[in-house]
Amino acid sequence: MKVMVINCGSSSLKFKLFDMEKSNTVLAEGVIEEIGKEKSKFKYKSKNMKKDEEIVKDVEAKDHTRAVEQVTKMLIDPKAGIFKDKIEVDAVGHRVVHGGEKFSKSALITKGVKEVIKDCFEIAPLHNPPNYSGIEACEAILPNVPQVAVFDTAFHQTMSKQAYIYGLPYELYERYHIRKYGFHGTSHEYVSQRGAEFLKKDIKKMKIVTCHLGNGASAAAVKNGISIDTSMGLTPLEGLVMGTRTGDMDPAVVTFLMRKEHMNADEMDNLLNKKSGLKGISGISNDLREVMQAASTGNNRAQFAIDIFCYRITKYIGSYAAAMGGLDTVIFTGGIGENSVEVRAKVLEPLAFLGIKVDPARNKSKEKEKVISTAGSKIKCIVVPTNEELMIAMKTKYVVSESNNMYR
Ligand code: ADP
Repeated sequence: MKVMVINCGSSSLKFKLFDMEKSNTVLAEGVIEEIGKEKSKFKYKSKNMKKDEEIVKDVEAKDHTRAVEQVTKMLIDPKAGIFKDKIEVDAVGHRVVHGGEKFSKSALITKGVKEVIKDCFEIAPLHNPPNYSGIEACEAILPNVPQVAVFDTAFHQTMSKQAYIYGLPYELYERYHIRKYGFHGTSHEYVSQRGAEFLKKDIKKMKIVTCHLGNGASAAAVKNGISIDTSMGLTPLEGLVMGTRTGDMDPAVVTFLMRKEHMNADEMDNLLNKKSGLKGISGISNDLREVMQAASTGNNRAQFAIDIFCYRITKYIGSYAAAMGGLDTVIFTGGIGENSVEVRAKVLEPLAFLGIKVDPARNKSKEKEKVISTAGSKIKCIVVPTNEELMIAMKTKYVVSESNNMYR
């Protein structure tokens, strides 16, 4: 089965084509950026090209449908393409950010499923509309190919009410579905499963904290293979300090600033989501590498930003150990989690009282998947590179195979 994974942003479309029969090989991948402009940028590589070769060119993609069309055109290119003259994709898997309360697993896309994705526009205004456009684009260009929605929120639908209900009047939950949903679910699920395999342990008997630390960052408490709590909330703004997002803070700050600085809701939204976090604290950048560079030359605000970022993660790991009644594994993933030796050490050192001991040599090792705690550490700390696209492809294959069985 050949599965195409699609991840649409407001002006971008990323895709990855997997051959699920051949050890999940990646046949082709790429991205179209600046969709909607006069010229869009298309980057593409495939298994039929040389190892480090990449095609970069301008294409016309006024909307997501045109972008999907450009992708399919490339896939039948005589040189760089994968197919001869016909697109032989068996299923398309879409990353959909918000599935609300309706989806606790992936779903074959139907009219009804599309309606629910649309219903979530209000609570995910930045993410769900482009995800939806991607679905409609693929339906138009690949009309007979089954499509599957894989939701970022689905893995966290196992949280209990005590974890997901906020301390607001309960009627607001009933009226608007305001609650914690959590995101990065595909990544938390993938790395917890892969981490258990790597450690040769049964995930059903594990208490894991997964830390997905990228530009967006979140932690999850995964007990016996199930998410019981996670740091992001109604939107991805809650929880850890991120590249440009505040994470947790006293909600009264919002009303205070709106009054003092005469800000409206959109301006506030922009401040909290785009101007805060590492970027806002350091005044340097949202990119941790640049913040670290500045800190190393004595920039105090850059150093604060790193300290605050790490301290928040440490606190979440501690609180999730309490929520799960124990902890046996901490998993790091995402650009920062996979690459920053310093952040991992700084997050874990204060947790020595729980029995965590980091092995500095293991932490520095160039291996991608690795144990970074000592042999005697009571809690295993590991790094597992995330692979959200592969997880989406696997879920898509599963959903399509199940639905085929149903109609057989
Ligand atoms: P996104 O959430 O956009 O997918 P990534 O998972 O790619 O983001 O993570 C981006 C973050 O990872 C940036 O803050 C970047 O500085 C950080 N990062 C990448 N490589 C390293 C590294 N070697 N050391 C420290 N931070 C790194």
